[in-house]
Amino acid sequence: IHADTERGAAVARDDRAHVFHSWSAQALIAPLPIAGASGSHFWDYDGKKYLDFSSQLVNVNIGYQHPKLVAAIQEAAARQCTIAPSFADESRSEAARLIAERAPGDLDKVFFTNGGAEATENAMRMARLRTGRHKVLTTYRSYHGATSGSITATGDPRRWANEPGMPGIVHFWGPYPYRSQFHAADEAQECERALQHLRDVIMVEGPSTIAAIMLETIVGTNGILVPPDGYLAGVREICDEHGIVWIADEVMSGFGRCGEWFAVDHWGVTPDLICFAKGVNSGYVPLGGVVISAAIAATFEQRAFPGGLTYSGHPLACASAVASIRIFEEEGILENVRKVSDTVLAPRLAEIAAKHPSVGEVRGLGFFWGLELVRNPDTREPLVPFNASGAAAGPMNEFAAACKAEGLWPFVHFNRTHVVPPCTTTAEEMNEGLDILDRALEVADRFTA
Ligand code: PLP
Repeated sequence: IHADTERGAAVARDDRAHVFHSWSAQALIAPLPIAGASGSHFWDYDGKKYLDFSSQLVNVNIGYQHPKLVAAIQEAAARQCTIAPSFADESRSEAARLIAERAPGDLDKVFFTNGGAEATENAMRMARLRTGRHKVLTTYRSYHGATSGSITATGDPRRWANEPGMPGIVHFWGPYPYRSQFHAADEAQECERALQHLRDVIMVEGPSTIAAIMLETIVGTNGILVPPDGYLAGVREICDEHGIVWIADEVMSGFGRCGEWFAVDHWGVTPDLICFAKGVNSGYVPLGGVVISAAIAATFEQRAFPGGLTYSGHPLACASAVASIRIFEEEGILENVRKVSDTVLAPRLAEIAAKHPSVGEVRGLGFFWGLELVRNPDTREPLVPFNASGAAAGPMNEFAAACKAEGLWPFVHFNRTHVVPPCTTTAEEMNEGLDILDRALEVADRFTA
């Protein structure tokens, strides 16, 4: 790593002049110019290096610039850069087979998209056409993407400015024991009451109007909400009872994040559709998709599926997915997640929670963890209010700045920090990052009562 401050300044200048950024008031941001990345780290043009505890947008599961993945993309580019989705393509066929082989049950066909939003969008489309019904039930505290349907399905403030959006979405409450909507005393009660709430919503909305229930298997951005044991099995049962399609949005939780190919594997349950993106190829080339059950695929045997994308199953993207899945197996990346989670991440986060008054709860599995920061561990008042921005987000900003000052790039959302590093992160790197996190939490502790 060598500094090239002048180059960095030029990159920043062009960015500010011409790049229009996502989710931002354009005049209020100063994007950090990035010079390079490798493994678990990236660095800026001043030569400052960051250990990444965010995997960017929780997508760089294989780490940065994995040499075998880069080589596979180079080879694929030399062989075949592009071909329309209507042809059969070697990389596309193989990627679909490898994904289907790893998906549970009879989910054997893959519709490829360019990312997660198009995956959830098309999953909802499939469910509606399969059932002939129009409603889709999704949870508050969820994110499903930023296209018209997927942002309407989203249960967080990013939906607000996009309303009314797509008709037919109904939001309900999912399980969240730490802030239970159901006054539950424990996880078992939370599970039982959350399922009863879902049954009640279905009853009053009318089962014959509901095409799908779409859930993040483990809620990602909105809090690393791990469903209590039994909840997903209960959802499966309810869907079967009413002929409702269960869509598992595994855009963030799939492909290694939870130490499994798919997060549903953790509970041994099988949805009807699984949405994936992010970790499938770590975003080296944009890719997402929907894995489809035999029954839903059968709906479109004699009837055309009314959806498509110029770049559905893009050869470069698919070749990178093939290579990524192979590398995961060759290098035991799922095993790394399980081992480093069990031996380092989980026990050390428990210690950190016990030590810092600002840590209200630690929850997660695999390399998918969240620390909920509070002003008071007894009242559970969040360290910053829901949807806080600007000055109101001050304490979280100060915490993040303390991490960055020491070379750790944290993931911060509202009053939470998520520990979501690349799945290739070693025990040593994890310990190094947790040491920094531990010290930075002293900043958050100063705001506790
Ligand atoms: N679904 C979930 C659970 C996500 O976390 C995301 C992105 O963060 C999406 C869908 C949307 O994916 P994309 O940004 O690739 O459209």
